[in-house]
Amino acid sequence: MQRYFAEINSNIVTLSQGDYFHLTKVMRASINDHIEVVDQHHKVYLCIISGVNPLIIEVQEEILKHSELDKEVTLLFGLAKNDKIEFVLQKATELGVKRIVLFQGQRSVVKYTDSDFNRKLDRFNSIIKEASEQCHREYLPEVIYRKSIKEIEDDLLADINLFAYELEAGSTSSLNIELDKKYRKIAVIIGPEGGFSKEEADLLVARKFVPVSLGRRILRCETAAVYALSVIANKIENE
Ligand code: SAH
Repeated sequence: MQRYFAEINSNIVTLSQGDYFHLTKVMRASINDHIEVVDQHHKVYLCIISGVNPLIIEVQEEILKHSELDKEVTLLFGLAKNDKIEFVLQKATELGVKRIVLFQGQRSVVKYTDSDFNRKLDRFNSIIKEASEQCHREYLPEVIYRKSIKEIEDDLLADINLFAYELEAGSTSSLNIELDKKYRKIAVIIGPEGGFSKEEADLLVARKFVPVSLGRRILRCETAAVYALSVIANKIENE
């Protein structure tokens, strides 16, 4: 069933313009069709279309099935080309992250000023919203930008911060081993296409990041993000 994020006040559902268009023109909603709506409090409701012109959406009942991970996962991802960033935003959303911090690595080929990021933010948020609706989440992950690893504040970090380091490839320090039940918040950092500089690696270790291997092969940055988040989500969902 199609899911939308919307405001619900006194049982009145207010869709965004894009979702209104999607529901009426793309899905061609007709009377008695059902949709799911996630409100501003992250509650999910089963709704029925009771009129199409004008569109009337009636709230029927709360849906109590939840789809969020039980732990908070943050992905820190080195700036890469735009198509890779968009791919990673979509996949990270599907894999359940709470937050994506894009950072400019010393070896990032792409560089953003704050205003470059702000100009892209609407597009990034719409990718995240569409992915969240498609995979039936109750939360929209946030995406933020930091100009270097140094600018990533401690409060964006977690109880365990995993450092996927290409120089660890094939080592025994596996992602799986490092993930212990006791951590409530987990962060993982993935470098840009060019990997991490020595200075960045030293800084991460000094900030108590745990270097881990993602296997014997060197993965592309976007593959590395999907791999790491899949392992983390699998671990959380099977605890
Ligand atoms: N250009 C670099 C590789 C960068 S791969 C080189 O040739 O060495 C991009 C990022 O993906 C890395 O910074 C790291 O965070 C992650 N990554 C890829 N493969 C990995 C592996 N086997 N183990 C740990 N991290 C890996």
